[in-house]
This record gives sequence, C-alpha cells and structure tokens, in this order.
Amino acid sequence: MLMYKHKPNTKRFAAVDLDPYGCPSVFLDSAVQSVQDGGLLLVTATDMAVLAGNSPETCYSKYGAALRIMLQCIESHANRYGRYTTPLLSISADFYIRVFVKVYSGAIHCKKTTSKLSMVYQCTGCDNFTLQPMGAFKPNPTEKNPQQMKAYLPAVPPVGEFCVNCNQRHHLGGPLWSAPIHDEAFVARVLTHVEDNMHLFGTARRIMGVLSMVREELQDVPLYYTMDKMFGRVHLETMPMLVMRSAILNAGYKVSYSHASRMSIKTAAPAQVLWDIIRTWEQIHPVKQAKLEADIVAKFIIKQEVKTPIDLTERQDANPSSRREGRVRFQFNPTPHWGPGSRAAVNVGDDKMSKSIKNQNKYSKSKKNAKRQHSSSEDDERKKANTGGETAL
Ligand SMILES: [Zn+2]
Repeated sequence: MLMYKHKPNTKRFAAVDLDPYGCPSVFLDSAVQSVQDGGLLLVTATDMAVLAGNSPETCYSKYGAALRIMLQCIESHANRYGRYTTPLLSISADFYIRVFVKVYSGAIHCKKTTSKLSMVYQCTGCDNFTLQPMGAFKPNPTEKNPQQMKAYLPAVPPVGEFCVNCNQRHHLGGPLWSAPIHDEAFVARVLTHVEDNMHLFGTARRIMGVLSMVREELQDVPLYYTMDKMFGRVHLETMPMLVMRSAILNAGYKVSYSHASRMSIKTAAPAQVLWDIIRTWEQIHPVKQAKLEADIVAKFIIKQEVKTPIDLTERQDANPSSRREGRVRFQFNPTPHWGPGSRAAVNVGDDKMSKSIKNQNKYSKSKKNAKRQHSSSEDDERKKANTGGETAL
C-alpha cells in the first residue's frame, strides 16, 4: 500500500529494497511503479518455485536460470507501465538470490525487451540447453541513419526434434532474461569501494570474493554447464576443473566460472566440444562397459566420434585470478540447517508430523529405499520436520 501511494512522479522513491518472506512477486507490481526514473530496485527471493510459475523445476534450479527468471519477471512488471530495467548486479548466494536493477521510464525502450528475453530448450537426456531468443535486432542502415537497427523475429526452433548430443527430446522453459545480468562498471566501483573501506563491512572478504568472481564471468554466455552433472551423466568421476578449463581454452573458446556454483563452466563452446573433451578423457579413464550397456543415453554420448581436436594439457591462464589470489569464492554453509526456515505454523502442526510419518511407509515399499530407511530413524524425520529441514520444504 505504501508503494502504491508513492506512484505519482513527485512521490517516487530513489530506492526500494524488497526483501519479503519467500517470494517477492506479489510486491513487484507496486515496486516497479514507485521507483523514480533511474532509481534503484533491489529484490531478494528465497522461494524461486513461486516466482518461476509454470517453468519446469529443472529450469529454475539449474544453470543459473533462477536469477534470469527473476529479472524477466521484474522487467515484465515494469513494461506494463511503460518502464524498463537495467541490471547492475545479480547474486546467487547461500539459499537466496538478490538482484539490483535500475528502473527507467520510456515506452519506446520497452520494444527492445523481447531482444533481451529467451526461451530455453532443455534436453531431457543430457540436460543440454539451447536458447531461443524471443526477438532480435539487425542492422538496417539508411542514408539518414547508417547506424539504424531493425527489430525482427528470429526463426524457430533452434533445435531438431532429437538432441544431437544424446538423441533424446527436449523440454521448453522460460522466458528468461538472456541479456547481461551485471553492469561491469558498477561492479568494479562497488569492489573498489569495499576494498578501500573494509572496516565498514563485517563480511568484506566475502563481498570482495563474490564480486571478483562476478567480474570474471563471461557476460555474453547466459547459462552454464556443471561438471558433476555432465560427468555423472556418463558414469565418470569428474575430471579436475583445471584440466577441463585448459581443454576448453586449448580448443579456442573462452571459459569462466559462474559465481553461483563451484562446479560451473561458462563457455560459448558448443556442448559437442565439451562432450568431445569428456570422450577424450574417457579414453584414458574408461567407463565400466556394464554401466554403458545399461544406459542408452550414456552409451550414445560416449560412443560418438570425437570431432574437435582436443588437447588436455594444463595451462596457467586456466586458473582464474580470483582463485590465484586466494579470494573467498564459494562459502560452505556454516552450520546445519543454515538457510531460510519454513513458517513455524507449517512445521509444528500435527498434520505435517503425521504426513511425515505416513510418508515413511511409502519409502519402505521398495527394497532400495528400505535400505535408506534403515539409516534414518523416525526420530530423525521428526527432527527434520521441526527444524524446517528438507522434509518441510
Ligand atoms: Zn541431449
């Protein structure tokens, strides 16, 4: 209500910081209207499930898509009022995500929004993702204006019916924000400010670590691969990150981490190049034949011929400077149950408790899960339900 009362131009806020319990989406409509032109909107979300709406779970939980779904969501709210946003900094940390965007007025600029959004085709077999931009610009020079650009609708679809890497089909998710999610100049300024004033910030070292990683991220590569998922897909132990990064650089592509995951690989290299690296690695560390025979997707991937010349030789520049300098990059959760607790009423209610106990019978039906059940007593389940652990979420 406060934000709605501050909709008129003269009453708008210079900055609005939304940090609600759970999902911020219900506050976005008023928030985007109550920030002044060029003002700052800060949004924190701990519950991405609601914000992501109908997108499949896999889409918002993987590849750094959560931040981009949130940015798309804010932009779509802003566009309804002839306003648009520019991201300054977008952070995924611990159990929450937080974005910093500037809000501007100008209906004419809202037309450009589609060129900043994409749908994403996600392979059901190998998890590979392919972006489908919702709009784009191409040069349209005229005598009057040689720099003129023209909007057009890109042709669809960007993938065939079956994934070229693993021969499976796709799911469709999105839309998500596929334009840059950080403003490099802004990030550099914040980093310098924190470095010069460390005594003002209790977590200065952590802020500096995260911002250093953010600065190293490839801005023009929206999503990222994760090493453990790719190697797990073909039943291999994960290779050292340095070797993977070196191999990508040796193949002629840039590579960076995402600040959001220690196993992340951001690169413009096609998935086929990454699989070629993994296939080359597999020649030295073979997958057990029985595992391949039992998994047609893994077999399809591993048995493909290596088409890219692969060189696994490690190189110095594969080690990012944030790592060489020993910055605090990824933080482990400091205590058990660290994170957003669930609402107390939901957790301690009788219904929740009986549901948790009721569910235990389901597990014991299968032999495999009965084994797991053995190590997790009923008391443990109760404890989880009471402390807002995984059961409650
Ligand atoms: Zn695939």
